[in-house]
Amino acid sequence: MRYISTRGQAPALNFEDVLLAGLATDGGLYVPENLPRFTQEEIASWAGLPYHELAFRVMRPFVTGSIPDADFKKILEETYGVFSHNAIAPLRQLNGNEWVMELFHGPTLAFKDFALQLLGRLLDYVLQKRGERVVIVGATSGDTGSAAIEGCKHCENVDIFILHPHNRVSEVQRRQMTTIFGDNIHNIAIEGNFDDCQEMVKASFADQSFLKGTRLVAVNSINWARIMAQIVYYFHAALQLGGPARSVSFSVPTGNFGDIFAGYLARNMGLPINQLIVATNRNDILHRFMSGNQYVKETLHATLSPSMDIMVSSNFERLLFDLHGRNGAAIAGLMDSFRQGGGFSVEPERWTEARKLFDSLAVDDAQTCETIAEVFEQSGELLDPHTAIGVRAARECRRSLDIPMVILGTAHPVKFPEAVEKAGVGKALELPAHLSDLFERDERCTVLPNDLKAVQAFVSQHGNRGKPL
Ligand SMILES: *Cc1c(COP(=O)(O)O)cnc(C)c1O
Repeated sequence: MRYISTRGQAPALNFEDVLLAGLATDGGLYVPENLPRFTQEEIASWAGLPYHELAFRVMRPFVTGSIPDADFKKILEETYGVFSHNAIAPLRQLNGNEWVMELFHGPTLAFKDFALQLLGRLLDYVLQKRGERVVIVGATSGDTGSAAIEGCKHCENVDIFILHPHNRVSEVQRRQMTTIFGDNIHNIAIEGNFDDCQEMVKASFADQSFLKGTRLVAVNSINWARIMAQIVYYFHAALQLGGPARSVSFSVPTGNFGDIFAGYLARNMGLPINQLIVATNRNDILHRFMSGNQYVKETLHATLSPSMDIMVSSNFERLLFDLHGRNGAAIAGLMDSFRQGGGFSVEPERWTEARKLFDSLAVDDAQTCETIAEVFEQSGELLDPHTAIGVRAARECRRSLDIPMVILGTAHPVKFPEAVEKAGVGKALELPAHLSDLFERDERCTVLPNDLKAVQAFVSQHGNRGKPL
């Protein structure tokens, strides 16, 4: 499989190189040159497969030529073997024909484990083969950091540096990162906000001289491998609900448009999906596009669903690329005008095309809490605030009651106690068994000033398993 850039100017890469790449050299994102397409018979024959075997069938075309089948199977079995629920992504019924797909049974209790557990193992496999080492520098407002550290902690050839804003992530989230020790694991608390952290990561990709030749790898969802891993659970859910003979709809709490883009790909690979609902919080750039064809940057608001607090949605470029007939020059033009003026619209026929599949809703904090309380009362299920936004959007935007609606349950409620408390649900939150002593564990973290040079100096002094690069 070959991968091409959404801006049309960067060289095409194979899977191995795409795994190790960040942004393409032209500023674009990598996407498969040709998407595999499965027949209905083929998809139907996968019913009842264990999760890792389904994952093998869905993802195999993407890694062909880079990873032999037997090795890929083994990697997938190990990856999903660390999840604490036998079904890996169980469906729980909330209401008539309405389901939550629980994607929070991985080590860090958010859906990001599905991709980052795999990414760490894939990196180790490929780097071992090539005899190379890499450095990861990633920024997190919470969930990505812990999932990336958990995914990479056993990697022989990866040193991982995660920047989080000092005193601005929840205690559970911080401890999930800082209580994992290893000479290749480095937590850095930046005396600044999340945007400062993200700017430092971007600047480090732009000028990598501080790494003295060591390659820098991305762990956010611009990395293709993350999107790829998320396609699988759309197939998994549909197969349990009568698919592919019957079509299914999904509501996806979204920020960077990564998770929902995976659903869009599943549909283009042959899975009958009737409707995809973009569910945002008050940071609603995606909702404003879907409802009014305006993609315009606005100020960032802190919400009770912090993992979706974004101003611009990086993966949205991958959808725009398809909406523009995969014309890289057109996307480069759009992104240029976005950078200069802070917004754009697309031609009406392109927007109408998108609206055939996508609907959207923005849900504020009060409505989020209302939904947590409502669902708890109706069904006894305690939702995290991100998932609650998905449920709210599903209930308001649903096109057909006859078609099963699956809401992606993106995190365990214990990660977001503030929202659960505000919802007034009188249920104590308990950490799952493997994290029950989280608050007693020692922490390891370095606080650094909001200064790029200081951070880069730290990375180059510790980037080789704690030793200088
Ligand atoms: C990351 C995250 C999201 C948003 O996912 P995107 O792929 O960026 O759309 C939603 N919910 C939770 C809990 C997350 O951690």
